[in-house]
Amino acid sequence: MELESLLAAAHALAPQIVEWRRTLHRWPELAFTEHRTAALVAARLHEWGIPHETEVAQTGVVGQIGAAAGPTIALRADMDALPIPEENDVPYRSERPGLMHACGHDAHTAMLLAAARLLKEHEAELPGRVKFIFQPAEEVIPDEGGSGAWRMIAEGVLDDVDAIVGLHVDPTLPTGQIGIRPGPIMAAADRFELTIMGKAAHGAHPYQGVDAIVLAAQVVTAAQTLVSRRIPANKEAVVTFGTIHGGNKENIICDRVVLTGTVRTFEPAVRDQLEAELEQVASLVRALGGDYRLRYLRGSPPVNNDGLLTGFVSRVARQVVGAEQVVDIPKSTGGEDFAWYQQKTRGTFVRLGCQAPTDEPPRALHTPTFDLDEAALPLGAALLAAVALRWLQEHGRKG
Ligand SMILES: [Zn+2]
Ligand SMILES: [Zn+2]
Repeated sequence: MELESLLAAAHALAPQIVEWRRTLHRWPELAFTEHRTAALVAARLHEWGIPHETEVAQTGVVGQIGAAAGPTIALRADMDALPIPEENDVPYRSERPGLMHACGHDAHTAMLLAAARLLKEHEAELPGRVKFIFQPAEEVIPDEGGSGAWRMIAEGVLDDVDAIVGLHVDPTLPTGQIGIRPGPIMAAADRFELTIMGKAAHGAHPYQGVDAIVLAAQVVTAAQTLVSRRIPANKEAVVTFGTIHGGNKENIICDRVVLTGTVRTFEPAVRDQLEAELEQVASLVRALGGDYRLRYLRGSPPVNNDGLLTGFVSRVARQVVGAEQVVDIPKSTGGEDFAWYQQKTRGTFVRLGCQAPTDEPPRALHTPTFDLDEAALPLGAALLAAVALRWLQEHGRKG
């Protein structure tokens, strides 16, 4: 079948894609509690006669169509929302106080449903299988292995998969554009918790104690030199302290400060180096009479796009949205647990522009005013379906 007719079919389905997205948007659910979301997904798949499993990695859903004889391509959407109170005054505003789909996962779920619907109509033409992975819990920077993708892999979701494609809405790109980049595109997202111990004393007699606040200040300042002085200028990295808590009263020398933060890197060597150097920076409190405990927790690895598969998706995207609408995107120091799938099989992660012409400045992801241009939804659905179809057509015969 031609990709133009796939795009036309996606446009015809647009009112329903919008309706699914709005239903999900009204009822955002946090990581591993996506019960209603999963029920909506399962109900649609059931209605269309697509075999599926539920409760995969707790609240995930996995559907599958096509011929078992050929290769398998997986398409992935994430389903969870964020603990952010929505400020948009729209008819489909979140009905759950404090929770919001501020990362567009409602749209990802709706688009993957639409892709399943579109491909199901051409199931007889598929020389292989398409797996639809509706994943829970992307929005956690977990202790190693805690997020939805990792747990789905642990349950065997990728065991028979030869390639995987994921897509994320991007409010920095206008609707109609697809953002592509081979190689590393998103960072490893680690986090740490640093406890600094001093010795309490009367605030009037600091020499009798060890001031944990002063120690923490030294550590925070010293840590600013990690990226600027220790990492080569042609490597990217971020070290951020996000919280600092300590002290009980203005006239007591504080004996304990807890700091938390995140480290973002693209290369394993830089990641290892920063973990070791953060420890070294923390240890300077010992020279000053204090002590510390550092817990460094590795999250997802970098999202690293397979070169061949990315080139393939780029070619299909040009056919779907037009060559001039497919753009190169820069690396982002954001993290994405899609990276876990790429540890197991070749994968690529693409960006779907969703900035409405009226959105100036763009609405940022993870903010209370994030929203997306729903005109992007049929494009994303058509792209996912087209990639799966063409990939199977190219690889199905080779086996
Ligand atoms: Zn997010
Ligand atoms: Zn996201």
